[in-house]
Amino acid sequence: MSRPAVAIIGAGASGALTALHLLSDPDGPRIFLIEKRTGFGVGVAYSTGNADHLLNVRAGNMSAFPDQPDHFANWLRDRHPDLLAAGFVPRRVYGTYLAGLLRAAAMSDNATGRLMLVNDEAVTIITGQGRPRVRLAVGRELLVDALVLATGNGAPEPPHVPDGGLARSRRYIGDPWAPDAFAHVAPEDSVLLLGTGLTMVDVALSLRAAGHVGPKLAMSRRGLLPRRHAAPATMAPPPLPPIPPLLSQALRLIRTHLRQYQAAAGDGADWRAVIDALRPITRPFWQSLDTAARRRFLRHLRPWWDVHRHRLAPMVADRLDGMLARGELSLQSGRLRAFAVEGVGAQELVAVRWCPRGTAQDAVMRVQHVVNCTGPGGDLSKAGPAIIQSLLAAGLARPDALHLGLDLDGDGRLIAADGCAGRFYALGPASRGAFWEVTAIPDIRVQARQVAAAICRDLG
Ligand SMILES: Cc1cc2nc3c(=O)[nH]c(=O)nc-3n(C[C@H](O)[C@H](O)[C@H](O)COP(=O)(O)OP(=O)(O)OC[C@H]3O[C@@H](n4cnc5c(N)ncnc54)[C@H](O)[C@@H]3O)c2cc1C
Repeated sequence: MSRPAVAIIGAGASGALTALHLLSDPDGPRIFLIEKRTGFGVGVAYSTGNADHLLNVRAGNMSAFPDQPDHFANWLRDRHPDLLAAGFVPRRVYGTYLAGLLRAAAMSDNATGRLMLVNDEAVTIITGQGRPRVRLAVGRELLVDALVLATGNGAPEPPHVPDGGLARSRRYIGDPWAPDAFAHVAPEDSVLLLGTGLTMVDVALSLRAAGHVGPKLAMSRRGLLPRRHAAPATMAPPPLPPIPPLLSQALRLIRTHLRQYQAAAGDGADWRAVIDALRPITRPFWQSLDTAARRRFLRHLRPWWDVHRHRLAPMVADRLDGMLARGELSLQSGRLRAFAVEGVGAQELVAVRWCPRGTAQDAVMRVQHVVNCTGPGGDLSKAGPAIIQSLLAAGLARPDALHLGLDLDGDGRLIAADGCAGRFYALGPASRGAFWEVTAIPDIRVQARQVAAAICRDLG
């Protein structure tokens, strides 16, 4: 009997890790791994050619496999003995690791002839009579038995203010990850970076590496920068007490726990150890919150969570501090009010009206470019990729209650508009609404194993 077929749409880390798990099962399915960009296994984060773009998680925590925690560290020791597992290695090195794993898995005895790499965009899913079909941009269709959405982050949402023609002008860079995003930015040009998180830091470093010397100004509502990683605490915190399923109580308990740990350990304590200890409980805690509490978290706590949870490698933090100290980059906090594109040709400028934090008076600045660094877009039902729009339109998927991603069951199966789950799955950023922390490899690798196991079970 022929093996069932699974289409995995997106061959970044999420898609590649799911494929690895499916291939490791000798009775597993055939796989169409579909990727619209060049390169399989690297995705957006690990395809950067910029050596200054470092992992923001220690190499020792970046194994592809949850049950082999030293896998990447061992690979690194063999291939790059100059790089330390305890350090933060260039992201492109991690891309080489993932792509190599995929190549090796495809050539293993278990997997002969089972992995088909398809370099194209999946645009629609057609269901109805017979097996589902994935239609590719070239027009070809693939017959499958199950489907995995591993399409990654959406482009940042455009700012919700009157844009005065900005979105249509070349002055606006809406997707800083697009391959030629900064082609129109001349070295002396002034640039406003919207957002002060990890994306902003990447963009500021990329511009600098590309020879940009003009003024760069980063702005967000609170002006919070990601905190830096530090050497591991010399004294580990005691185990966390059970966290109550109420946001305010949980916050109070974690703060008390941190204060007690700091009082007991003195200089040997580090708040990062307490934040890191939350990783295993983050998902069940999120799932225990009702929609109103999740909404409160997003509104009031998320900016603080993001900067403490997703930190900068020390070398990157040093470079950022250097740029700030030398005035190459400046930071503002405030609320955007409106944009207006003024002048034409080389004289064209963007007037940015904004209200500095703590004041009631609007101010105006003029810059040559505006880069949207606000991070991944949220509402897939409004701005998701074509493939997700097609699933939503056909009622094969529905957004989660807060429109952070797609509605999923506990194993990652899409919940359709009628409330039923079938053989369509999602992982990575599209599952944020269901599980919240699915941003980094230590979470994604667990999810990939879980989704692969569910597929193998469902396909019998
Ligand atoms: C700049 C950056 C740095 C990061 N650094 C780290 C880090 O150091 N450590 C860490 O653990 N995490 C890091 N992350 C988090 C990172 O997002 C995850 O680790 C992981 O790479 C996410 O992988 P993904 O496959 O879900 O998404 P992506 O990497 O975005 O991959 C999705 C892929 O799907 C493809 N695709 C989308 N739609 C289609 C379609 N319709 N047809 C075909 N192909 C499609 C895209 O082209 C893309 O290649 C970083 C993220 C970013 C953006």
